[in-house]
Amino acid sequence: MSRLTVCAPLGVEARALRRGLAASREEVDVIRTGYGRVRAAAAAARIAASAPDMLAIGGVAGGLTTDERVGDLVVASEVRDGSKTVRCPSAPLLAGELRRAGLAARTGPIATVDHLLRDGEHAQLAATGAIAVDMESAPLLAGAQGRPAVVLRAISDTPDHPLASPRIVTGGLAALRSLRAAAPVLAQWAAAVGQRHVLLASPRSFCAGVERAIEIVELALEQHGAPVYVRKQIVHNATVVADLERAGAIFVDELSEVPDGAMVVFSAHGVSPEVRQEAAQRGLDAVDATCPLVAKVHAEARRFAADGYLVALIGHAGHEEVDGTLGEAPGAMALVETTADVARLRPADPGKVAYLMQTTLAADEASGIVDAITDRFPAATGPGSDDICYATTNRQRAVRAIAARSDLVLVAGSANSSNSQRLVETAERAGTTAYLVDGPQDIQLGWLAGASTVGVAAGASAPPAIVGEIVAALGGLGEVHTEDVVVATESIQFGLPKELRKQTADLG
Ligand code: SF4
Repeated sequence: MSRLTVCAPLGVEARALRRGLAASREEVDVIRTGYGRVRAAAAAARIAASAPDMLAIGGVAGGLTTDERVGDLVVASEVRDGSKTVRCPSAPLLAGELRRAGLAARTGPIATVDHLLRDGEHAQLAATGAIAVDMESAPLLAGAQGRPAVVLRAISDTPDHPLASPRIVTGGLAALRSLRAAAPVLAQWAAAVGQRHVLLASPRSFCAGVERAIEIVELALEQHGAPVYVRKQIVHNATVVADLERAGAIFVDELSEVPDGAMVVFSAHGVSPEVRQEAAQRGLDAVDATCPLVAKVHAEARRFAADGYLVALIGHAGHEEVDGTLGEAPGAMALVETTADVARLRPADPGKVAYLMQTTLAADEASGIVDAITDRFPAATGPGSDDICYATTNRQRAVRAIAARSDLVLVAGSANSSNSQRLVETAERAGTTAYLVDGPQDIQLGWLAGASTVGVAAGASAPPAIVGEIVAALGGLGEVHTEDVVVATESIQFGLPKELRKQTADLG
């Protein structure tokens, strides 16, 4: 078993950490390393000589921002020492686990300085982006000698509750309590440390429809100026939505929330004709980001309905794409989620039944329902070409390929993303435990303990950068060897809506 070495500059800090780690089953040494950078450097040299398997630095620190409170925990994303910076890539994993344990924890740069901060120096350091300050972390990190390391500090003073105030005693105690409460999570971090083989499912992340939808909102903001309203999430991903909100997009659930005359973008999942009519009646400047492959399913629904068919739409109730497609022919369509729903279909003419699909279904799940439809209605007819889109199909094939070789599969994607959820189910059907994560902060350390081969996939709405962040975080737990598992290459691109194309040309 590997051994965790925990460095605590002060005796009170070491005691708090020891008490918190008392029940741990990990092999742990808590070392008091002394106050200030000179003692820290000497301790680091001794620790380095003992070649630790992994290192955790724990103690109190000064907060630099006004939104930090005494007792909050800070996990260093990097430690800065003048012009030198040492990164701590597993910080999001530790901070996420601390938050799940009910503790207030954030990640950010910690600065190491050589003196207690004087008036005005808090603001100067905060302006560099640092969120906490201490006097030992940078020299102590040298003791890790490149092995996995984390820095966990509890805030004992803040710009609003400075060190010199009488409240320091209260602040110090609150910080030590937080440190003790956080210590068992350090043991969980230690249990997750290890070298890993990471299999990257390819294709992964953005599809052509998602790239187009994001570009439409960005172009609308550029050409029209903020705010631009977007009905529903443009794509189902929390990071994408947050980024566009920062750029000036306002996401609303219904058109009634959009002011008269404003610009509104319809999401990639599509809308029903009723929504388009409402926008036109209100004189809204509407831009349609519906994926062309969703629009194709809408067109099929209209065609079948016009030809007198009952159209069974295989999909999930409440999903925006399903709502939009059902809205194309409300009197002629029925949602089918399960084979049991097939038994409830009541077509006027059993010889005129058609079926369509939500574009992001799992192919194997949908084919069972198609079988039930054709068993009951042998003349049933389907779409001219597959409704489950190329991106969904490719990502499911890729996840099957990595699941077969992985101890664990992590799928980057948001909980409301249908195609990402289907990737988790696809991996599980292949017999491998899989989890959906919005980013490294959602990865539970317990999942990683004992998982030496980790598959990483990403739904069509998940930004590629998230996969990079996940791999980097795993790299903070030990050496990572990555392998791309490629099942297909994609080159599909969709054109922009004519309204934006024209303005782009005008601007050009
Ligand atoms: S997943 Fe498929 S249908 Fe959905 S936006 Fe991407 S390409 Fe279009």
